[in-house]
Amino acid sequence: SKAIWWANNLNIDRGGSRVDSGMEQNDNHQPRLLAIDGSNLIHRLLNVRLRHERIEIHSATNAHDGIEMARRIQPDVILLDINLNDMDGFEVLTKLKDDPETQNIAVIIVSASAETMDRVRGLELGAIDFISKPFEVVELKARVRSALRVQHLIRMLAQKARIDGMTGLWNRKYFDGRLSTEVANACRHDTSLSLILCDIDHFKKTNDIYGHPFGDIVIERFAQILTSGRAGDIACRYGGEEFAVILPGADKHHAIEVAERFRTRLHEEEWVNHDGLVITASFGVCDLSSNGIQKSGKGLLQAADQALYAAKGMGRNSTVEYESCARKHSA
Ligand code: GH3
Ligand code: MG
Ligand code: MG
Repeated sequence: SKAIWWANNLNIDRGGSRVDSGMEQNDNHQPRLLAIDGSNLIHRLLNVRLRHERIEIHSATNAHDGIEMARRIQPDVILLDINLNDMDGFEVLTKLKDDPETQNIAVIIVSASAETMDRVRGLELGAIDFISKPFEVVELKARVRSALRVQHLIRMLAQKARIDGMTGLWNRKYFDGRLSTEVANACRHDTSLSLILCDIDHFKKTNDIYGHPFGDIVIERFAQILTSGRAGDIACRYGGEEFAVILPGADKHHAIEVAERFRTRLHEEEWVNHDGLVITASFGVCDLSSNGIQKSGKGLLQAADQALYAAKGMGRNSTVEYESCARKHSA
């Protein structure tokens, strides 16, 4: 039946990945469509004709509400009527495309005019497609479906650019931005935030003795260990065999506990074909609220790095917290 056709074709995964531990993930729920249109008739039509489809429909009858809803509900696709009462539709489109919160949403322009220049202008401003009123619902469905498909690919590409290909963890570029965001959040809401920095011990030797491919296996396994914590923690591959984990809401005691769990798991790991081989890592931990830490991403990184350096100096396979090593330094 038609409904099944629609359901099958709209059944587009919104792009889940183990990497996404809490920020922009919308896995597995139905695609969302936001219709911004002054005519109540259109909203009724959409609701009736798409009632049985696997899509969630939201309606706004003016530009102001539409922009606000786009930010809040993060639809996959917006149907934007170009002839709104309170604002020119092209202006709405420009606003949506200028705002980082809404710029990646696919916008299909709906217009009573079939003017070529209107179409050109809409596409140039970032719309993904165009449909003229009055439209056949089958055409609308096809255009929405196609927009969702393109949207999905764009999301995957964007995600790829932020992910380390080897481990599936966030890469450093993403991490740096995310750390700043988390520091700002923690300061604004007066919540805890900790950072763990870690580095595999004597890894050059491991590569030399067991070969580079085995070294890669170690890195991949360590990455798995680092993502075994709470869902809200953000693990990243910071460099070759160096990793970082952001722990929103965690104070230093909690972060030390987490780091110790990671350290123990790597230490106790058994390596296939290498009986008795022991691989370890060192961990530096710091808490945003600790004394002497500059309250920025850079400040946290410096502190964690200092603690990691101290852990290496202590003979490796250990966890050091920033305040304890800073105190020793100044004593
Ligand atoms: P330390 O205990 O002081 O950290 O000693 P280390 O040998 O681990 O220190 P160093 O940072 O000097 O060496 C890191 C090595 O990690 C060098 C590099 O060849 C290796 N490495 C970096 N990225 C990869 C990778 O993706 N795969 C493999 N197999 N090795 C890597
Ligand atoms: Mg190392
Ligand atoms: Mg290193």
